[in-house]
Amino acid sequence: MVFRLFDAPLREPSQFVGFSGNHIDRQSENRADDCVETALTDRSARLLLICGGKLLLKPRDEAFDGWFGVGESEAHGARLSEAILLGVSESGPVLAAPSGLEPDHLPDTVKAFDYRSVYTQGLVDEAAVGALAQAASLLAWNVSHRFCSKCGAESAMRAGGYRRRCPACGTEHFPRTDPVAIMLTVTRERCLLGRSPHFAPGMYSALAGFIEPGETIEDAVRRETLEEAGIRLGRVVYHASQPWPFPYSLMIGCFGEPINEDIQADLNELEDCRWFLRDEVRSMLERTHSDGLITPPKGAIAHHLIRAWVDSEPAD
Ligand SMILES: [Zn+2]
Repeated sequence: MVFRLFDAPLREPSQFVGFSGNHIDRQSENRADDCVETALTDRSARLLLICGGKLLLKPRDEAFDGWFGVGESEAHGARLSEAILLGVSESGPVLAAPSGLEPDHLPDTVKAFDYRSVYTQGLVDEAAVGALAQAASLLAWNVSHRFCSKCGAESAMRAGGYRRRCPACGTEHFPRTDPVAIMLTVTRERCLLGRSPHFAPGMYSALAGFIEPGETIEDAVRRETLEEAGIRLGRVVYHASQPWPFPYSLMIGCFGEPINEDIQADLNELEDCRWFLRDEVRSMLERTHSDGLITPPKGAIAHHLIRAWVDSEPAD
């Protein structure tokens, strides 16, 4: 095997997916127990505010601004005692906090958008969308892990939200990231796409499933493809990953090479699953398919897997 060091990480496919533009210096080695309190005393501190699973945005002319100062956050009902520290940017500390406001009863100064709309509609810049992924995942983990899973006592946030400590039994709990394999099975001519019942009308996408304990990424890709489509895969190749704050996943995108091509779809999981020719998939990407079939939106990692295959040179 030849191992080469590349000096151009800017071309990594992961950098083109939604939620991947986070530029915050996390300073993970410097998270003191009082780092949130210290950061909130900094006049340059900025916060993202999460409100009932949505991001609060301030309308600014034609665009939106997702960053709130500390005083401004309090004025919008932020629960600063539950704030987390994302890290430091060029302009100062960056935090996130739950807003105490109800999404249905917001003042005229703000609007609440679900995370998907924020990234698919490009409501804020890519760096802010990346910060949103970090903020939403970490806040969600803290909310859903308030009690010690060992003894049941209420735990306390530490290290800016990156740790919770149980005062009763001393156990320390750390944030989880759930890996999901998402895979595009491809041949020279065709790729395999499926349709879940909850998809938007006409949408087909790559297959996906959670990676299980004790399983490699490649084995998970092969197992899920066999379970959902009846297709056995040989070689599996990693392509890109995507932070996915629903609530705290990491999508791991791969290509797989099929050994058989006769589909046996799991109709409990999928409404339809079939092979698509390259030109048909290109028309789905470009929204010109004669039957209105489409691929997932541009920020989705499935879109990038499909686009990378469509644009690739067919191997001889
Ligand atoms: Zn405990």
